[in-house]
Amino acid sequence: MKVIVMGAGVIGVATAWYLSRAGHEVTVLERNAGAARETSFGNGGQISVSHAEPWANPSAPLKMLKWLGREDAPLLFRLRADPAQWAWGLKFLGQCGKKQSTRNMVQLLNLGTYSRSSLQQLRGATGIAYDHLTRGILHYYTSAREFESALEPARIMRELGCERQVIDADEVVRIEPAMGAIRSQLAGATYTSADESGDVHKFTTGLARKAAEHGVRFRYGVRVQRLRTLGGAMAGVEIASESGMYEVLTADAYVLAMGSFST
Ligand SMILES: Cc1cc2nc3c(=O)[nH]c(=O)nc-3n(C[C@H](O)[C@H](O)[C@H](O)COP(=O)(O)OP(=O)(O)OC[C@H]3O[C@@H](n4cnc5c(N)ncnc54)[C@H](O)[C@@H]3O)c2cc1C
Repeated sequence: MKVIVMGAGVIGVATAWYLSRAGHEVTVLERNAGAARETSFGNGGQISVSHAEPWANPSAPLKMLKWLGREDAPLLFRLRADPAQWAWGLKFLGQCGKKQSTRNMVQLLNLGTYSRSSLQQLRGATGIAYDHLTRGILHYYTSAREFESALEPARIMRELGCERQVIDADEVVRIEPAMGAIRSQLAGATYTSADESGDVHKFTTGLARKAAEHGVRFRYGVRVQRLRTLGGAMAGVEIASESGMYEVLTADAYVLAMGSFST
């Protein structure tokens, strides 16, 4: 099958890699001069299965109200007279119930567990070096109430096979001595020893090189301008090519992996 992947961040490149390994003819379109030059240039580098609590959770609505108007809010929501934004906001609120939030967390956790094990296999198979570390990830709390509300999700995660252990302040400092400076402010913490970290830019560019060796065609400096549809199905991609010329590309399948520009 001929497949066009739009975007060469970590998602587009990994998708191209797996499609190519499955025998498909893959072309990746990317507006920059190389892979991983936007979000995948420098994200937090965390491979954190334990970070599965969705933003939409029972405590989110009140927090968001408090954060409104704060430009440094962890979840920045700039209210506009935009029906699409309000519709999205209502859907978000609809997922904040305990039942919905737990269901979403279980899905994220399963996806995260699968992704981490795929990454481990990929690392073993390709030998890509990306400064990866398996030192675990620590979530710490300076508010007793926040800590209390983290206990139930952590319990569910353990039940589902993610070893997110609840630990006290002394254990936090043993794991990370630098935390000693705020030892007295710690209400508690959780620690997931199997969680990892690494350099997403090194990983993505390394995988793009391997994918190119395996036959994936990368077209850099190409801007996706419009998606063509016919009868509700994808019918082509309109692009500005490397030389700025208008082109229409067609394939049997299309993958939109343009990060926050995918909407
Ligand atoms: C500050 C921050 C920290 C984060 N930390 C983590 C973390 O620690 N762990 C984690 O798992 N996730 C983290 N994330 C989530 C992050 O979004 C993903 O990790 C990942 O980098 C996103 O990859 P992506 O391929 O979806 O998007 P991107 O890396 O943004 O790739 C999209 C690509 O599409 C291209 N593109 C866009 N529009 C067009 C167009 N019209 N034509 C052609 N090409 C186009 C862009 O140039 C870009 O290369 C973080 C996100 C942010 C913002």
